[in-house]
Amino acid sequence: MDSCLFCRIVAGEIPATTVYEDDDLLVFRDINPQAPMHVLVIPKVHIATVNDLTPAHEALVGAMVRCAAQVAKDHGFDGSGYRTVFNCNAAAGQTVFHIHLHVLGGRTLTWPPG
Ligand code: 5GP
Ligand code: ZN
Repeated sequence: MDSCLFCRIVAGEIPATTVYEDDDLLVFRDINPQAPMHVLVIPKVHIATVNDLTPAHEALVGAMVRCAAQVAKDHGFDGSGYRTVFNCNAAAGQTVFHIHLHVLGGRTLTWPPG
């Protein structure tokens, strides 16, 4: 999708600090980090929101979650803890309409979120 910011990062048209990449996924550092570790796990394929997921995406979403856990482990936060978040649509504050799993770690995160 030409106009999508994260599709443009996947295409290499916009730079990002990549921490992991494979055939299906890209992980890069959030430009406005909310924790010492704040990365976004995205599928390379364009999917606007989690509302648009279908059964055909189950393996992909599973891979995103497992990838998030691996990145958190690589940063040393598997034992101390970290947070994974999908925001969906306006009330949750979604601003980029290409699904992304936030992975935040390195500080104590409060609950409930704001
Ligand atoms: P959302 O609010 O949609 O859940 O999260 C979008 C995230 O993308 C935000 O945390 C925001 O800081 C991040 N973001 C927006 N534009 C860019 C960009 O150009 N590069 C990177 N690396 N992150 C971005
Ligand atoms: Zn996209």
